[in-house]
Amino acid sequence: MLKHAVLFPFFLVIGVLALLHAIWQGSFGWLAFVCCAGVGITAWGAFDIRLGYFTETFYRKKHLSSKLVALTFDDGPTAHTAQILELLQQHGAKATFFCVGKQLLVYPEVLKEIVHQGHTVGNHTFSHSRSFGFLNETQVKEEIGRTDEVIRNLLGRSPKFFRPPFGVTNPSVAKAVKYTKHQVIGWSNRSLDTITFDEGKIFERVCRKLTPGDIILFHDTSPRTVDVLRRLLPYLQKEGYTCVSVDVLLNLYPYDT
Ligand SMILES: [Zn+2]
Repeated sequence: MLKHAVLFPFFLVIGVLALLHAIWQGSFGWLAFVCCAGVGITAWGAFDIRLGYFTETFYRKKHLSSKLVALTFDDGPTAHTAQILELLQQHGAKATFFCVGKQLLVYPEVLKEIVHQGHTVGNHTFSHSRSFGFLNETQVKEEIGRTDEVIRNLLGRSPKFFRPPFGVTNPSVAKAVKYTKHQVIGWSNRSLDTITFDEGKIFERVCRKLTPGDIILFHDTSPRTVDVLRRLLPYLQKEGYTCVSVDVLLNLYPYDT
């Protein structure tokens, strides 16, 4: 797979050649094409976390013969997380919660319950800013560091898994996670549960794309997701799937100690 570290110098050289050609010939067609291709590939790399374009990302377990999947829940904890924990417990399923620091300050006991029930916790920034993609390296480090600190204060250890809000990666995120030594976790099966209002459609979307080794993206932020899980967890059991946490699926250690 092509990476930013390789493609950026390539486009820089091609861009300079296209600029010289444009000045020499008085034709800007090639220059426009190179600029559009560069911007397009960079945007694709920034928004598709599966590409690992800017930094190494884990988004599924490949070549898996056993029927394991990892359910992940972003943006919590919230008032809905307890219901999700109850459902997971009823079905013997383990999951991973990518928590937002400011939410942890509101629901600290939920975090403890998540871990108590054998689930895994990851870092999903402190404020989950809508402008996360525009933060500089220092700001990204602060977002990660503040949430690590909240979790360390509550659990006595910090997570090593980081999921960037909206799945956005860029040079600032790449430099920050290299510094903080977090592993970036993406997804291979996206439920779109925050923008789809029909529970049936969310369920069908997840099931249609389901394959062993999937990391499935949900959000513990609405009763809709709880309703989908009520249907999905028995379905996964019937189909012979086991729900494990991301660290078990990927065989990685999720904390710093
Ligand atoms: Zn999020």
